[in-house]
Amino acid sequence: MGTQTLEASFERITVNDDYDDLYNPSAYHKSKGSLSTAMTLTGLATSTSAGNRMKLPLQKLQSTTTTTSTITKVHLPSQVAQHNRDQSSSAASRPSDDPSALTHVRSSIPQQPSSPKLFHLGMFEIGKPLGKGKFGRVYLAKHRSSGFICALKVLHKSELQMGKVEKQVRREIEIQSNLAHPNILRLYGHFHDAKRIFLILEFAGKGELYKHLRKEVRFPEWKAAQYIAQMAAALKYLHKKHVMHRDIKPENILVGIHGEIKISDFGWSVHAPNNRRKTMCGTLDYLPPEMIKPTGNDSFYSEKVDLWSLGVLTYEFLCGEAPFEDEPLKTQKRIVRCEMTVPGYVSAEAKDLIKKLLVVDPEKRISLEDVERHPWIIKHCVKGERATNRSAELAKMMRKSGDK
Ligand code: ATP
Ligand code: MG
Repeated sequence: MGTQTLEASFERITVNDDYDDLYNPSAYHKSKGSLSTAMTLTGLATSTSAGNRMKLPLQKLQSTTTTTSTITKVHLPSQVAQHNRDQSSSAASRPSDDPSALTHVRSSIPQQPSSPKLFHLGMFEIGKPLGKGKFGRVYLAKHRSSGFICALKVLHKSELQMGKVEKQVRREIEIQSNLAHPNILRLYGHFHDAKRIFLILEFAGKGELYKHLRKEVRFPEWKAAQYIAQMAAALKYLHKKHVMHRDIKPENILVGIHGEIKISDFGWSVHAPNNRRKTMCGTLDYLPPEMIKPTGNDSFYSEKVDLWSLGVLTYEFLCGEAPFEDEPLKTQKRIVRCEMTVPGYVSAEAKDLIKKLLVVDPEKRISLEDVERHPWIIKHCVKGERATNRSAELAKMMRKSGDK
């Protein structure tokens, strides 16, 4: 079987969400998502990015017998999933394709009843550690029977309970497993045993975008524009599904083997209709004004929060630091007033896009459609092009022609 077929056969597996059984409902803690928690999480993500400091409990992991692993029901491929797979595998080679057709097909064909299939730890060969988050340890893994390479995220139930993030993880699983877009990290399935939850994730071969940015200090405009175009495509897809991410920042973006970006970390994401909440989340630097401002009654915000973050991201890609970076109190003040200056070395087009995204009034921010049509994006992105260095390619071509 070719790799393509293996990947395809793996992709069409849909997992029954039996996460409800994981905890005694009375043990649920209401996750408040306080700002301090968000900041701790960020701090951790940042420090993790500095390097892989994992001491691997590999033996322990592998010694778990399959009999003690709890199993999760998996539906065999339905017509819908089949279609899905075809769509997503072809879309994978065209990053900026709009997979909205997929959503339509999904909802119009009823799911077929199918025989259950099981996932458990024994089905995976565990490889090198890829990283460590506050709650999760992530390993490279191979699905033994298909050879499919993935990332296995291991979460300890006791740690989730102590951190009062069960609800957040549950939401992350529910939301992410329903998303299929080339610029969003896939969650293929999950299973659990007595102590741990395992998330079967798409493997992002080039790791964290945050690390790339720190190494390069600033991205050249062509690269930043291509990343932002991919972000816009992914956000358009999310918003169409009424999901807002709410925690867009370089630490939550991974890079695929072809240099394409993959949004991950849906721990703070929510379904948009449920948007009357005071929850403060995200790092301070990326928080939009409407999530900081005390508006008298309930803080009300929409998926437009992600547009603000996209503006902050554009700025950080081009300048190497977030636009409102300061002491926490000053950052808040500067955000609500949108006090920032774009350095002179940034092109006029890029500056224009930043200014159209970083608008205090959420309703007046540029739409994702207009981001995709913006002159700065058009200038640097041929539709469907990945973040490849065109000038480097050009130089290579020129060398080649020079050899002749
Ligand atoms: P937090 O606990 O704040 O969410 P985090 O996002 O860093 O932190 P994880 O999502 O558990 O935590 O991931 C830990 C690290 O493992 C990541 O920072 C990344 O370097 C690596 N990693 C995670 N998922 C993948 C993946 N699918 N492919 C490649 N590397 C990954
Ligand atoms: Mg994370």
